[in-house]
Amino acid sequence: PLSKIQGDIHFNNVVFEYEKGRAALKGINLDVKAGQSIALVGHTGSGKSTIINLIGRFYDIKSGHITIDGRDIREVTLQSLREQIGIVLQDTFIFSGTIRDNIRFGRLTATDEEIEEVAKAVDAHDFIMKLPGGYDTEVEERGSALSMGQRQLLSFARALLADPRILILDEATASIDTETEIKIQEALKLLLQGRTSFIVAHRLSTIRHADKIVVLDHGEIKEEGNHAEL
Ligand code: ATP
Ligand code: MG
Repeated sequence: PLSKIQGDIHFNNVVFEYEKGRAALKGINLDVKAGQSIALVGHTGSGKSTIINLIGRFYDIKSGHITIDGRDIREVTLQSLREQIGIVLQDTFIFSGTIRDNIRFGRLTATDEEIEEVAKAVDAHDFIMKLPGGYDTEVEERGSALSMGQRQLLSFARALLADPRILILDEATASIDTETEIKIQEALKLLLQGRTSFIVAHRLSTIRHADKIVVLDHGEIKEEGNHAEL
């Protein structure tokens, strides 16, 4: 098992292919210290989603190593690995159920007070209270009762409640109104505190706040540095 991790992550010469002979990642080296936030940027097909999928070991790599706190992720059980990782993907922001269930997801022992607390922390409480049933309002996975920004805030509340050491986040690409955008940036700042995070970043403000920006191009790291350096 992988208990009480710090969250240091290393990619050591990682080669990965979905299809034989076509490398999606061609020797990735990446050194991430516990607590750092990494923004992954690059053209479509450059390998951003592939990198985040490999951290949760959703695929096996062809060669190289990925380590967490110095331990190869192949040497730990999938369960203990994934217990440490919170994953916020655009197509899983919301599932059908109540708002409360959406925030509680997987944390079955969380109390209503704890759920409200995280909703308040990400500034989602006010819009939730304006919904017809408040926290008991039923929402649909693909329904339009919530805006994309509101969906993202709910997924942040869920991640905050789960409190993982490593956070993987695929930012919403949809256009979001300025007011919600500000809320999202504030909530994101809070969510990133004390965690190692990988963000497939689409927003300039997110990129600007990252400790390290990794620019991918055709499965390779083209540039790496902070916003001031690049
Ligand atoms: P986007 O910005 O469009 O999300 P991305 O940077 O996330 O792009 P990846 O999804 O990581 O890109 O894809 C990297 C490469 O791997 C691409 O050439 C893509 O076609 C290929 N690829 C991705 N997923 C699969 C898959 N499930 N099977 C086969 N090839 C895949
Ligand atoms: Mg992608």
